[in-house]
Amino acid sequence: MTMRAQCCVVGGGPAGMMAGMLLARQGVEVIVLEKHADFLRDFRGDTVHPSTLELIAELGWIEEFLSLPHTKMPHVTVNMGGQDVTFADFTRLKVRCPYIAFMPQWDVLDFLAGKAAAFPSFRLLRRAQATELLTEQERVTGVLADTENGPLEVWADLVIGADGRHSTVRARAGLVPVSDSPPMDVLWFRLPRQARDRVPFFQGGKGALISIDRGDYWQIAYAIPAAAFDELKTAGLPVFRERVAALAPALRDRVQRIDDWEAVHHLTVRVDRLPQWHRPGLLCIGDAAHAMSPAGGVGINLAVQDAVATANLLSPVLTRGGIPDRADLARVQSRRERAARVTQAFQLGILRDLYPKDLGDDTTQHVPPLFTAFRALPPLRHLAGRFIGMGVRPEHIAA
Ligand SMILES: Cc1cc2nc3c(=O)[nH]c(=O)nc-3n(C[C@H](O)[C@H](O)[C@H](O)COP(=O)(O)OP(=O)(O)OC[C@H]3O[C@@H](n4cnc5c(N)ncnc54)[C@H](O)[C@@H]3O)c2cc1C
Repeated sequence: MTMRAQCCVVGGGPAGMMAGMLLARQGVEVIVLEKHADFLRDFRGDTVHPSTLELIAELGWIEEFLSLPHTKMPHVTVNMGGQDVTFADFTRLKVRCPYIAFMPQWDVLDFLAGKAAAFPSFRLLRRAQATELLTEQERVTGVLADTENGPLEVWADLVIGADGRHSTVRARAGLVPVSDSPPMDVLWFRLPRQARDRVPFFQGGKGALISIDRGDYWQIAYAIPAAAFDELKTAGLPVFRERVAALAPALRDRVQRIDDWEAVHHLTVRVDRLPQWHRPGLLCIGDAAHAMSPAGGVGINLAVQDAVATANLLSPVLTRGGIPDRADLARVQSRRERAARVTQAFQLGILRDLYPKDLGDDTTQHVPPLFTAFRALPPLRHLAGRFIGMGVRPEHIAA
């Protein structure tokens, strides 16, 4: 099969769905290829930050969006050694929604897909996995994908690689990232939730536990030192359950529910960035350009901001029937690169300070300087709220 579009977006995550929807909103013919059949995967993070909520408000969809089930977090509070400290306060942000909305990401992506479907020039192909790039004289001219109906060639004036931190597109394009080694991995599992539970959002100690309220269950991210999963497995499930219960005593009565390692997903964390986000005919955005760790929960919003900048800068060229040239693509990178680098540096700083370095490490025994500074200087929380909530260079939807 062969198809043609002005723009082929690879990856229907936050970056790809937002970029595809915004380009189609400007009348650009877009095909988004998503390798999965649906958005129902659990490892993506649930945070919708004030900057993203503001973008949805600018699009005129905020009331509809907020009618989806979500919880609001106006401050981020972390607990270490029994002491709470508010790390970020969003309440003074001058935006319509000064809080983080916790909403399962499949709902966010379904919402964007529903809105995008209303634009006639938008197509989302699910179960379509990009495998190769099509090229002509060094220029990327499309994508080859595996679909349930066989191979598909999509020819396009522009390919956007938004296929995440294990990007096939950037690998096939020969774009090589520079990597940092974040000191942690994440174990991702669920425990039942009861209305009376009092569980801190972030609990430091032996490991670090982040608990996200998903109504009838807690979605839990347990941070461990990088590559320590095998050691933990050898120690056995009872040891793991005890570590979880020690961090969240309110859940002690149900940690027995973790009765098989199969229920515990091991997610490796990666932080890297491309020195160059583009080559002729191709642009990478989101995690494909700069893989983000979960620290601060900012990767989704950075991906969305990249998508907005891409649509703002490239849709004028595409709607004129032009093909973005090297300078157009470089403009997107130069607009977004600094934000990505500063945010990654911030994430690595948090990881160094707040997360354990080996399995025996108890972070509450050496309360990090960052933690002490936030206790002593409350205005820092508003600064952190601005940085985490809005990002380094907040984008706006072009008129
Ligand atoms: C354990 C963990 C927890 C995290 N928690 C949070 C959090 O709470 N908040 C937060 O803001 N950030 C979090 N992050 C970071 C965040 O997940 C990423 O920064 C963000 O998802 C990047 O969005 P993206 O659209 O660029 O890529 P992704 O979300 O990775 O989306 C890429 C999409 O491309 C699709 N795809 C991949 N390959 C192909 C292919 N060959 N063909 C077609 N489709 C393809 C994938 O199926 C996926 O849908 C977390 C990261 C990790 C590792």
